[in-house]
Amino acid sequence: MFDMNYYGTEETIPAENREEQPDMCHKCGKCCRSATTYHSHKKLLQMTEEGVKDAIDFLSVFKPYRSIEDARLVEPEQVAQVLKVVELRDDMNVEDVTFYYCEHVSPEGLCTIYERRPRCCREAPGHGWSAMPPGCGFEGWQFEQREKQKRMIRDLKTSAYIMEQMSPDGVHHPVRPDTTLEELNQMVLEKIKPWKGFGSHHW
Ligand code: SF4
Ligand code: SF4
Repeated sequence: MFDMNYYGTEETIPAENREEQPDMCHKCGKCCRSATTYHSHKKLLQMTEEGVKDAIDFLSVFKPYRSIEDARLVEPEQVAQVLKVVELRDDMNVEDVTFYYCEHVSPEGLCTIYERRPRCCREAPGHGWSAMPPGCGFEGWQFEQREKQKRMIRDLKTSAYIMEQMSPDGVHHPVRPDTTLEELNQMVLEKIKPWKGFGSHHW
């Protein structure tokens, strides 16, 4: 799945690591006027041709702005925020960023097709790192999500360190002799990987 402003992909944030969010939207409509995705527009079009449902759903409501500058005229704060996120990441390029607007948002910011809005809208923000517009009602929820994930990763790293200290020979797990410390560290690295792009190696 990918959603608007979703700076992670199915591969980066596995479904089991996401929590269903409460309804904290105060219906400002900003995300409907400044959506972006992890993929380039070219890639999105290719995905629709391949029949990827999430891409088809996304492009069924979102139309691309002609340029980043056009999007900036509508939601300047969000454009600046997204570009800053992209610049900090080494797996994304500003040239690949496209901003989108939805034709179904009313001037007051309400969804005019609410009951049949696509999944990307129903599930936004997908996780704590979705780059939602400044002032979004989900800010507090996203902060909590980020802190929870950071704590979980710190706990994993601490456990691996403790096991290493307790290992009888410095090679094997102290209570699971069939597992080596290297395998254990590999497991920890796998768990950390989804958040690598957000700096998990430094948490
Ligand atoms: S930016 Fe946040 S508060 Fe505004 S419409 Fe989107 S989800 Fe709701
Ligand atoms: S379909 Fe509705 S919720 Fe989704 S972007 Fe358009 S106006 Fe917003």
